[in-house]
Amino acid sequence: MDSQQFREFGKAAIDFLADYYDNIRDRDVLPSVEPGYLINKLPKEAPEQAEDWKTIFEHFTDSVVPGTTRWHSPQFHAYYPTGTSFASIIGGLLGDGLGVVGITWMASPACTELEVVTMNWLGQLLGLPKEFLNCSPGSGGGVIQGSASEATLVCLLAAKDKMIRRLKSLNPDIDEDLTKIKFVAYSSDQSNSSVEKSGLLGSMKMKLLKADPSGRLRGHTLQKAFEEDIANGLIPCYVVANLGTTGTCAFDPLDELGPICQKYNAWLHVDAAYAGAAFICPEYRHLMKGIEYADSFDINAHKWLLVLFDCSTMWVKDGYDLINAFDVQRIYLEDVKAEIKIPDYRHWQMPLGRRFRSLKLWTVMKSYGAEGLRNHIRSQVGLAQHFANLVQADDRFIIEPEPAMGLVCFRLIEGDKITKKLLNNLTEKKKIFMVGASCKGRFIIRMVICSQFTTKEDVEVSWKLIKDETDTLITYEKVHMKSITTMNENIKNINMCEKSK
Ligand SMILES: *Cc1c(COP(=O)(O)O)cnc(C)c1O
Repeated sequence: MDSQQFREFGKAAIDFLADYYDNIRDRDVLPSVEPGYLINKLPKEAPEQAEDWKTIFEHFTDSVVPGTTRWHSPQFHAYYPTGTSFASIIGGLLGDGLGVVGITWMASPACTELEVVTMNWLGQLLGLPKEFLNCSPGSGGGVIQGSASEATLVCLLAAKDKMIRRLKSLNPDIDEDLTKIKFVAYSSDQSNSSVEKSGLLGSMKMKLLKADPSGRLRGHTLQKAFEEDIANGLIPCYVVANLGTTGTCAFDPLDELGPICQKYNAWLHVDAAYAGAAFICPEYRHLMKGIEYADSFDINAHKWLLVLFDCSTMWVKDGYDLINAFDVQRIYLEDVKAEIKIPDYRHWQMPLGRRFRSLKLWTVMKSYGAEGLRNHIRSQVGLAQHFANLVQADDRFIIEPEPAMGLVCFRLIEGDKITKKLLNNLTEKKKIFMVGASCKGRFIIRMVICSQFTTKEDVEVSWKLIKDETDTLITYEKVHMKSITTMNENIKNINMCEKSK
């Protein structure tokens, strides 16, 4: 492909995407394909001869697109949103197109420096304490990781290293390996599966403590777990607090957990993957009260901030905690803690290579402005509220727990079985996509405002799909139940006849 073909293909691709988003409502949110559809359709071997871009593009639209779930359809209400915006697509394209790898500052100065700038911009917008920002004086800073999972693992590894260094400074004779196996990590039983996985990957026992009835990990629960473990010779090392759990968007009280972590020198990581984006609006910041106790904080800008996957923005109070853990030269920098003016990001992450991801964040922040981003968050919360009002007005449903951010959880009063059936039927019809969760032992349906294109009318379309399916289901169940009751009556009558014979 020469540059001329690149121009043509590139323009056609942009036109395709513009049309795709303009017509996002034209197709079902879930694709109508069977498992294996593409594997069976495409050739088993790579093409021997070069193909021209028009052929490639045709195969893309004919074969690939039909098997794609429409994550940006206004009827996509599953999981949490994944961000996209035209600005981010362009930022991603430019970043990929430049084709640089930011291993060191020299490897591409703009790649490092734009990340410093954008992470400071976003950190300030979120109202993070300035210790987290990359600014003088200090050694804090922000770095873009690939995912919230990665951020949780990176911080777990840094916590482990920091703890062992602290213990060695107190007692240089301790056996590092025998001590490390006593380290324990904690989170709530409501945390994302990636938190448990970080314990597995980082070889640290991860205890998932019981959340309170509103899904929050409370201070007394953590305190008790710490005390029991210490009594058993274990060493609390790492705590992952959730601001916006994946299931029901519950917020752990940082001001309860923080002082306990501080007292025992355990690292406090805050996983605010989805809901953290809302802190750009001052009215939500009370939910991160106690943030000053955190050692690290992560949100997925690629979830609710209109930036394409992958862009998980993570801040640490002390960059040296990462550098000491990940710089293989292992020259501990504790004593020479110079201010970090320009971070060497390869020591802030797992891989060596790094993409120019900050361009996506930069184009989004510039093209929306802080005001535009706040409007986005507020309007999505408003749409969720509108949906909640519609559900509330129908007495067959219960909303539980209270809606939070763009998430509304609801169930049918009649019980789990019929709520599950409702979700299954809706999924089978492919017009709306939601997933289930559990709350207080009950099955609930999670409805999240995901698409940036969602309007009030779209929310009403979604509600109508749910309502109509419920009507059908309840009518069916009634008729069905009636026939079962009649059948049972008949059987009873027959039995009685038998007996009287
Ligand atoms: C989505 C989510 C994650 C996982 O995010 P990835 O970027 O896919 O790793 C972790 N924690 C919470 C609370 C989430 O909502």
